[in-house]
Amino acid sequence: MKQFDLCYIDDENLLKWIGELEKWQKDHSAFMKIFRIYSQDMEKEHILHVCGILDEKMPDALYFGCTSNGNIKGGVLTENEILITCTMFECETTKARLLQYPFSEENYREAVEGLKRCLQENPWVKSVEMLATIMDMSMKGFCDEMSMLPENIQVFGGGAFNPNMDDEFAGVFSKGEGFCEHGIVFLLLGGPDYYAESRYIAGWKPLKRRFRITKAKKEVLYELDGKPAFEVYKQYLNIEKNENFFSNTLEFPLFLERNEFNILRCPLAVNDDDSLIMSSDMEENAYVKIAYGDPETILYSIRQDGQMIADFQPQVIQTFSCAARRAFWGDQNISKETVMFSDVAPTSGFYTHGEFIRIHGNMLNFNVTLVIAAMREGKPKDENRVDFCGPTFKKLDKIPMIWRFVSFIEASTAELEAMNRKLLMAAITDGLTRLYNRAEIERRIHDALEQEDEAVYLIMMDIDNFKKVNDIYGHKEGDRVIMSLSDILSGICRRIPQCFAGRWGGEEFMLLLQGNEMDAVMSVAEEIRSTFESTAFEMAGHQSVSVGVTMAQKGESVDRLCSRVDKALYTAKDGGKNRVVKLD
Ligand code: GH3
Ligand code: MG
Ligand code: MG
Repeated sequence: MKQFDLCYIDDENLLKWIGELEKWQKDHSAFMKIFRIYSQDMEKEHILHVCGILDEKMPDALYFGCTSNGNIKGGVLTENEILITCTMFECETTKARLLQYPFSEENYREAVEGLKRCLQENPWVKSVEMLATIMDMSMKGFCDEMSMLPENIQVFGGGAFNPNMDDEFAGVFSKGEGFCEHGIVFLLLGGPDYYAESRYIAGWKPLKRRFRITKAKKEVLYELDGKPAFEVYKQYLNIEKNENFFSNTLEFPLFLERNEFNILRCPLAVNDDDSLIMSSDMEENAYVKIAYGDPETILYSIRQDGQMIADFQPQVIQTFSCAARRAFWGDQNISKETVMFSDVAPTSGFYTHGEFIRIHGNMLNFNVTLVIAAMREGKPKDENRVDFCGPTFKKLDKIPMIWRFVSFIEASTAELEAMNRKLLMAAITDGLTRLYNRAEIERRIHDALEQEDEAVYLIMMDIDNFKKVNDIYGHKEGDRVIMSLSDILSGICRRIPQCFAGRWGGEEFMLLLQGNEMDAVMSVAEEIRSTFESTAFEMAGHQSVSVGVTMAQKGESVDRLCSRVDKALYTAKDGGKNRVVKLD
């Protein structure tokens, strides 16, 4: 497999190049050639003109392409508007097929069905390269359908671009099918000597703090954690609603958690209601994290993750990089992240509106990401391996400053969160027994009564003649007796689901149970009484506890319920203590 590329200037340079290709093909007896055409020139006529020349001069060649936001040739952003690449296939066994379908939210299923049928008829297919117009389209349904393709089929590609956000024009095209403003093209490649590998690299890193998407519709992100989405950018990053919004948020896009993947989405603009227009669809109830990106971190990731592409030893590399990356780096620097791949193999591609890749069967639609597809015919030859992570990379012992800042933020956040958890526990538990305090157990009784669908029971306890324990054996022994009863209650709570214990007062306790039968609750009460009675204290010997039990009635208040269980408890005291009394 061999790749050539041409920046189209005029027919003359195209015809000359075609002549050179014909010669090369003859000399090397290449069996098949495929052209890719990426055009930043939005004039459909210009694109069709180039296609016409290929139709005429290379009638046996396949070609396909799309509108782009800039093209990559030799791993570098080209100034030229139309890029044509030609891949020559040298193994007779390598086969290709081109498919083109209309593509919109209404008919994407037909495109996927068509692709599936073709894959069934052509079991030799190993990879599917796709170009599609995706403006204003939710990709979720399409990606779900594409995830159902046979497990071994790789898919990669990009969205056709239009530089003007308000102008819907963008297009894909292929040989025999012409130019389509709402279309999708698939290039199917395979055969026993053809190999493909694909990889995505973001380079942006997620901060740990998660936000839940509480309201979103398609690409509009309304709320995070119940607050207008813009407030997150305002509150945490001090980003204002002004003309710099896009470039400021580009350094801090959002990672959307989908299955086990982190998918970048960038905010493009803020609406008047503080909702955000995102680069692609969002999902209600999913989680997002703020990502951070800086040039050093991104290049570091590309070297590290790109090594797999180098190890594959491709003969051709196709890159599908996001237009947002070009905006982030600027035209002066953008090529830094792709040029290294041209040391591995001829590298070409374009800047997209959305990148696609299939990982472990999951079809993913990214933004702000670099998707790299590597292709080869035949087995790799080890001496050609390029090392991205060699001595110069390893010498990078002075890690980027932003990593240390992020580490500082994450460590401080972790400390604050731990402190918060401690404070929360202190606010709702009792210091001596570690059971819930009275306010918390009351709150839980209140919540249980609100639920209404399950029976609610209370068991209230008061240690008998406890003053005497204190008076005779001292306060310390008194504490031990209290803790022994609270240990019994904790054990029961661990064993029974939806069971909570609280310290109601000095030596009074309350147990809340939900969803049980009265018989079971009564035996819990009896278990508490008998276990406590049989406990032997070093000084105080055996003690006892009186127990009241009741069940909540429909629509009952916390106060009424508690006063009934209190009454049950005092009936037990009046009846001679060390007993369980139930009151309906
Ligand atoms: P009865 O059988 O009627 O319940 O008699 P009692 O002696 O247990 O009477 P009462 O409930 O009035 O006594 C509670 C005592 O518990 C009073 C108080 O000094 C003691 N007390 C309250 N909190 C603690 C504590 O945290 N530790 C200790 N050691 N004693 C406490
Ligand atoms: Mg008492
Ligand atoms: Mg008592």
